[in-house]
Amino acid sequence: MSIIRKILSQPVESLGSIGTARKNGFTRLNIYTLYDLLYHFPRRYEDRRVVSLDNIELYGKFAVCLRVNSKPSSIYAKGFPMVKFTAAEVAKSVDKGEELFEETGNQVDIVYFNSDYLKSVFKQGNIYIFYGKISSNLVKYEMVNPKFEPYHGEENNTPFYPIYRKNPVITQNMLIKSVNSVIKLISKDYDELDFLPEYIREKYNLCDTGFALQNIHNPESEKNLKLAKDRFIFEDFFLYSFALGWLKSRREFIPSHKYETDVDMREFYSALPFTLTSAQQRAIDEILGDMTAQTKPMNRLVQGDVGSGKTMIAAAAAFFACKNGTQAAMMAPTDILAVQHFDSLSVLFEMFGLKTCLLTGSLKAKEKREALKAIEDGSVDFIIGTHAVIQKNVNFHSLSLAITDEQHRFGVNQRASMESKSQLMPHTLVMSATPIPRTLALIMYGDLEVSIVNELPPGRQKIDTFAVNSSYRKRIYDFTRKLIGEGGLAFIVCPLVGEDEEDDEPLIPDAHSNAMSNMKSVKAYYKELSEKIYPDIPLGFIHGKMRAEEKDAVMEQFKNGEVKILVSTVVIEVGVNIPDAVLMVIENAERFGLSQLHQLRGRVGRGDKKSYCVLFSDNESENSKKRLDIMCKTNDGFEIAKKDIEIRGPGDLFGEKQSGNVRFKLADLALDTDILYSASKAAKEALEKNPNLDNPENYRLKQAVTEMFHSDDPGKIAFN
Ligand code: ADP
Ligand code: MG
Repeated sequence: MSIIRKILSQPVESLGSIGTARKNGFTRLNIYTLYDLLYHFPRRYEDRRVVSLDNIELYGKFAVCLRVNSKPSSIYAKGFPMVKFTAAEVAKSVDKGEELFEETGNQVDIVYFNSDYLKSVFKQGNIYIFYGKISSNLVKYEMVNPKFEPYHGEENNTPFYPIYRKNPVITQNMLIKSVNSVIKLISKDYDELDFLPEYIREKYNLCDTGFALQNIHNPESEKNLKLAKDRFIFEDFFLYSFALGWLKSRREFIPSHKYETDVDMREFYSALPFTLTSAQQRAIDEILGDMTAQTKPMNRLVQGDVGSGKTMIAAAAAFFACKNGTQAAMMAPTDILAVQHFDSLSVLFEMFGLKTCLLTGSLKAKEKREALKAIEDGSVDFIIGTHAVIQKNVNFHSLSLAITDEQHRFGVNQRASMESKSQLMPHTLVMSATPIPRTLALIMYGDLEVSIVNELPPGRQKIDTFAVNSSYRKRIYDFTRKLIGEGGLAFIVCPLVGEDEEDDEPLIPDAHSNAMSNMKSVKAYYKELSEKIYPDIPLGFIHGKMRAEEKDAVMEQFKNGEVKILVSTVVIEVGVNIPDAVLMVIENAERFGLSQLHQLRGRVGRGDKKSYCVLFSDNESENSKKRLDIMCKTNDGFEIAKKDIEIRGPGDLFGEKQSGNVRFKLADLALDTDILYSASKAAKEALEKNPNLDNPENYRLKQAVTEMFHSDDPGKIAFN
């Protein structure tokens, strides 16, 4: 290991003055080492380049240069203590080498709530740069709780102020300080971190890692920031495409499993409680065609809208594999979903004497031991689980078919691990409901064949969708009550788990902003609803930070109606199937991507009862209204994806989490398409030039790819 890597692999505590609380705070941000800190990139930047008040747009956020003109005084307004003073805008001029600050005539009233100590911080006559929302009362401008720093000469003030993802323990300032101390530590030697071969860097005009890291954290200019971002986006895509390409070439020289027995599928079909739709039937035929082709392993994506019945398609493929005396495995992204698949499919398979087992991280030690043993000795045929399925300790007896549900939730390394679980190359089936533009699918899914399921099972009713603002709250409460009285169940989805998940905005009363403080959190809203609004109705809540058993228990209660209203985060977004759920209420709907909203809405209307979706949003922007309007007008996932791209480019298509799972540092699969194409071209070139990566110039690239495959689920992949 090079020295620089050794330094960066040290834990964050090595920075000093980091106790247990802070260490845990960092852990919650997924920061364990100095390396993680260095690659904890700002979410956004505040443009703090100083502007003149004459050129601003009211109610926007700007940085202005002001001299404190009156002595700060404490007053009370609307019941809040505040500090108030007046400041005058100044403009710098230089006369005979001397800096002069002349007043422009613009006056600003500045107010801070709940910060009495500031009274003695601001000195009359001193110049500061204030940053924040600027409003006006005809005579003067106004700023409430602006951020500030003493004026040090414009070149010394921060033009682009980094805003990091943070939490209550690890503050913005702490992050800025710690990141900068890591940058200082490795002031040179950045090249050791650069896995792009130099010829690629030159050909594609990419800046080097040192420049990129410095400018991503402390951008000197807009131009430098763009160079830095482009470089990281490129490297994300490059590595991803390279890994995909490598997997693909690997598939070509490992023999695949060949099925010998012809299975009569009719007995399977006739055991189902419904007739398959023709789209389902077509997808199954395509799948079985691949599986019996005897030439290369299947590698197919089934893409079908929420509720189109993809589970049964997968089950048919698994049935075929198991009837051939081999094992099939299905991996789902959440515990809830895995349990649900297991519950619905184990009974069906049992009818044919096929054994099913559940494998998730939350099994008890004894259950897990038994499951692992059964998987290894072949006494179980169909294995349904979560990431647990691809862990090192899982040895399959005869895996021939690997299915991933909600494929967009998994990264390429997980697919690789799944494939590596068998001596022969298993057949791969992936399923996804997230529609993505075809061009992107090509890169994301590489060489996958695609089956489209463009039909919903009969009898589904349109889910009536309404976009409303808070003034409708009372009516929606009554409506919810009515539906529950009729035997229905309701979901209420909030964007946050708890109130401590705040963004970087301070919690302050601010008349003009519709700040984060308006965002609903599961815990607080659950409390409010169960105490004040529905004291007589059983409520439950669920979020991703709960333990799996807790989640399962709540889901179970909801499913059988012991809990009537489930307050939730997006953990219920994918797959969950509860036929009695008839109402989906989404709070702060503007915070979600359209496809995500569509997925969430897909949690209702899965039985034969009329179902509804209510989108709460107080966001007044045109864009937000337009987007929610689309949700009200159509129920078609592909149509929604298309419209979304028309309105605001493909950026919103993947919820944060979805692209997050591919573990990109910065790249957005849907937004950065130009870079995606050039990076994927570059990856092809690199792979062709040196498929084994044994050239010295590829030394660090090889290391990066290896790390990628080993990162979070060390399957059996050996890179050689
Ligand atoms: P998704 O494509 O979103 O994964 P599911 O496989 O969960 O959809 O199916 C949604 C619901 O539709 C389930 O309750 C399932 O039993 C039911 N279903 C699937 N196929 C049919 C069909 N052909 N006819 C009627 N109901 C079906
Ligand atoms: Mg599904």
